[in-house]
Amino acid sequence: MAKNVLVLPGDGIGPEIVTEARKVLELVNERHGLGLEINEALVGGAAIDATGVPLPDETLAAAKAADAILLGAVGGPKWDTNPDFAIRPEKGLLGIRSQLELFGNLRPAILYPQLAHASTLKPEVVSGLDILIVRELTGGIYFGQPRGVREKEGGIREGFNTYVYDENEIRRIGRVAFEAARARDKRLCSVDKANVLEVTVLWREIMEDLAKEYPDVELSHMYVDNAAMQLVRAPKQFDVVVTGNMFGDILSDAAAMLTGSIGMLPSASLDENGKGMYEPCHGSAPDIAGQGKANPLATILSVAMMLRYSLNAGEAADQIEAAVSKVLDQDLRTPDIMSEGMKAVTTAEMGDAVVAALNA
Ligand code: NAD
Repeated sequence: MAKNVLVLPGDGIGPEIVTEARKVLELVNERHGLGLEINEALVGGAAIDATGVPLPDETLAAAKAADAILLGAVGGPKWDTNPDFAIRPEKGLLGIRSQLELFGNLRPAILYPQLAHASTLKPEVVSGLDILIVRELTGGIYFGQPRGVREKEGGIREGFNTYVYDENEIRRIGRVAFEAARARDKRLCSVDKANVLEVTVLWREIMEDLAKEYPDVELSHMYVDNAAMQLVRAPKQFDVVVTGNMFGDILSDAAAMLTGSIGMLPSASLDENGKGMYEPCHGSAPDIAGQGKANPLATILSVAMMLRYSLNAGEAADQIEAAVSKVLDQDLRTPDIMSEGMKAVTTAEMGDAVVAALNA
């Protein structure tokens, strides 16, 4: 049966970068005979303007029916001031993540050697960096109940949240991480705070348990404070890192910035069956929208992740990643990764260059 990809351009630079990613997807679809059916729908601010809500029923239904989803980005000043949070663009994104139970967030931090100067760290510390952070996305303290702000004795207000994971939630994100490590350098570091938090004592226990099923993967553990330090001290020591929602939120942003260029970083959010939503790590960049300045490579690399993780087309994914490396070798740069002596290109020119590299 034909597989079905839903494309959600979204807002700001979303439509521009998705146009380029789509060129690449359509090319590999044809070349590899993938038989993908590609459809488009509205989400975020664009959906609010057209229908009044950020996640129209048709979009949610199409997302549920799709084998994989490619998202540009959502949000922008036009919608950010709406006092009704239900009518904010981000609700569209969160709605898809929760409705589709996309609990496994994969964020690679790869530093192409050609861009080593873009990092704030020394080139020798980051050059060739290739790590994958696996973050649990639908549980933990961001979702735990009870939560709120209450008044205690004496009229003092206190805020409270609940950090909770059950063993099934830990096991399913653990499996995603072990499988990912198995397909890479076979090293998995589980990050927790087991010296202080009981929930992560259980986390560690389940990871140890799972390790018995993956004897080919070397499992290690690290406290989150040390992990933050090690990520900036010697990031290349890591292969795959697995952690909960909050620690992953923070560590994956730190890891992303090791590469120095937000316009290069793809991500995947997966469900239990490998269905996923793929998107660049950055937002809708309203400051450069419509100017041909956006870097489409993070979205193009998200297409590669989609082919590898949801569409069983690893060879096509490898070719896209090689093509991206090739355009960097050709010194082509959008403004965000520009440096002296390089050739400035627009969003569309960068997309066309990747297509040309694939065709070469
Ligand atoms: P942002 O990631 O959109 O932009 C931060 C900076 O990075 C800006 O200077 C922008 O020009 C630059 N940038 C981002 N992507 C780029 C690209 N591909 N090429 C070149 N430069 C790029 O973050 P922000 O400014 O904090 O947020 C803008 C809007 O995006 C907000 O409405 C926010 O809510 C939304 N947002 C959406 C997502 C998402 O859709 N997943 C994620 C983060 C932020």
